[in-house]
Amino acid sequence: MENTVYFVGAGPGDPELITIKGQRLLKDADVVIYTGSLVPKALVENLRGEVIDSAGLNLDEVFALVLNRWKAGKKVVRLHTGDPSIYGAINEQMMLMRKENIPFAVVPGVSSALAAAAALSTQLTLPEVSQTVIFTRMAGRTPMPEGEDIRSLAAHQATMMIFLSVGMMEKLVADLIAGGYPETTAVAVVEKASWPDEKTVRGTLASIVQQVKEAKITRTAMIAVGDVLVEGDPPALSKLYDKTFTHGYRKGTS
Ligand code: SAH
Repeated sequence: MENTVYFVGAGPGDPELITIKGQRLLKDADVVIYTGSLVPKALVENLRGEVIDSAGLNLDEVFALVLNRWKAGKKVVRLHTGDPSIYGAINEQMMLMRKENIPFAVVPGVSSALAAAAALSTQLTLPEVSQTVIFTRMAGRTPMPEGEDIRSLAAHQATMMIFLSVGMMEKLVADLIAGGYPETTAVAVVEKASWPDEKTVRGTLASIVQQVKEAKITRTAMIAVGDVLVEGDPPALSKLYDKTFTHGYRKGTS
């Protein structure tokens, strides 16, 4: 049988938020290479295989490890924080694997964006408020492609989940307002969603910069933007449960 290398999503922090499949692959692995501080230590403790922290390694070094172990017939798992497809840098690793004809597969994980929504008990898509969620970030050392800057995205007034940007709150909020969000728009910041030291701050675009400063949140945080975050009665109840609404599984009453 083919020896497949697995990219596994570790989830956002709580070690119970990995998938059953991901957990099984970890237990079976001969080698687990995980990406540094954001992967919960509990997931890489008490494994039978070799465990390597890739934090101090560059792409070539990680790949050399994978190639060497794979050629020796070992089962290799690359463990990534949250879901591997989001800011996970798996594409460049896959490129190298294709060149060497190493079979690989991806096992999804719970992204921190979804863990943050859970921490806030928020429905990200609320009828007549927003039916779209944008996952994005501020430009850092990685520039934003044309048309994807925060101002352009803000024009949609959709729900936004913003990664990798809590260190740039002032600029972020200025761009969101310049892009069209009213200052009264609800915003929340969740630091270390699903970790034991999770911290949540709720406010508006007008207040959030100061609140984040006071809470001393400087890293590993998700910024959620949009009026889906307003607590209290939604402007429109979901049509699906409206008693006058007919759908495939239920006939509505008038
Ligand atoms: N693949 C990951 C994202 C990696 S990029 C995922 O799907 O979650 C790293 C960024 O993710 C951090 O800067 C932060 O914005 C966010 N992040 C990761 N873990 C987080 C957590 N537990 N709580 C809040 N934000 C988190």
